[in-house]
Amino acid sequence: MRPIEIHPNVFLVDIGHFGEPGLGGAYILLAEEVALVDAGTSLAKDRVLGGLRELGIRKDQVKWIFLTHIHLDHAGGAGALVSELPNATVVVHPRGLKHLVDPSKLVASTKSAVGERFRFYGEAVPIPEERLHPATDGETFTLGSLQLQAIDSPGHAPHHLCFFAPEGGWLFTGDAVGLYIKGRLLPTTVPPSFDLGASLATLSRLESLAPKLLLFTHFGPGEPGLIQEYRKLLLSWVERVRRYKDLPEEEAVARIIAELEEEDWPVGPGVSGDWAMSVRGVLQYLHREEASG
Ligand SMILES: [Zn+2]
Repeated sequence: MRPIEIHPNVFLVDIGHFGEPGLGGAYILLAEEVALVDAGTSLAKDRVLGGLRELGIRKDQVKWIFLTHIHLDHAGGAGALVSELPNATVVVHPRGLKHLVDPSKLVASTKSAVGERFRFYGEAVPIPEERLHPATDGETFTLGSLQLQAIDSPGHAPHHLCFFAPEGGWLFTGDAVGLYIKGRLLPTTVPPSFDLGASLATLSRLESLAPKLLLFTHFGPGEPGLIQEYRKLLLSWVERVRRYKDLPEEEAVARIIAELEEEDWPVGPGVSGDWAMSVRGVLQYLHREEASG
């Protein structure tokens, strides 16, 4: 399947996350040096390699795999890809690096968070340390005529980076600005480390870059005004969950999902598991907040 063209230099491979189109992707950046932004799960490897092939890119031309964060739907496939792409270096937040060298903890925590839906994530292959590059905030990578800047962007996770291409004003948002599924912005506030304060500070930082186009991993391009919209959505989402914070977790999840259904939010099979996780992530954040007084 040919990747979706967003710009002559930017393509999007649909990784078919959760077995559905339009839910998860990996970007291909075409410049003198070819790069991926996010890698998808290990189950997506053939789709990503197929996308490169469709664009006429040889495996040895891929120099970079930029990971927005280490969650398996973004980074799980990186290990499988580096063994196929001999010249690729994986760029990751310094706080995430050790979990790619030894992904056993990452895989175990995903299994416990997603339960039977782990079948959609796939295992992660360890990445040799010499193939990894920890990116500092503001570090700029030159891919020939294109530059890409790493932006520390905690909130969704403490090991989150966005990548900004100043030339085109493209901002690869990872999960920092939520999910943008079929024209609708949705919160992603998953355990164990969602942090509202950090998220809001990140959104302000991203706005200060004055991006012209947001590129969501989930899924595709969106207008820069979505950053402001996400700020409002996050605040109302956390307030919604706060009302149920003293209930047992599963009861809070069930009540909130019923509310969302009533209000016509998309709660179909592909995204319903994400809602449950996003409720749990906020509950954990609220309980941490409470414990710290
Ligand atoms: Zn994600």
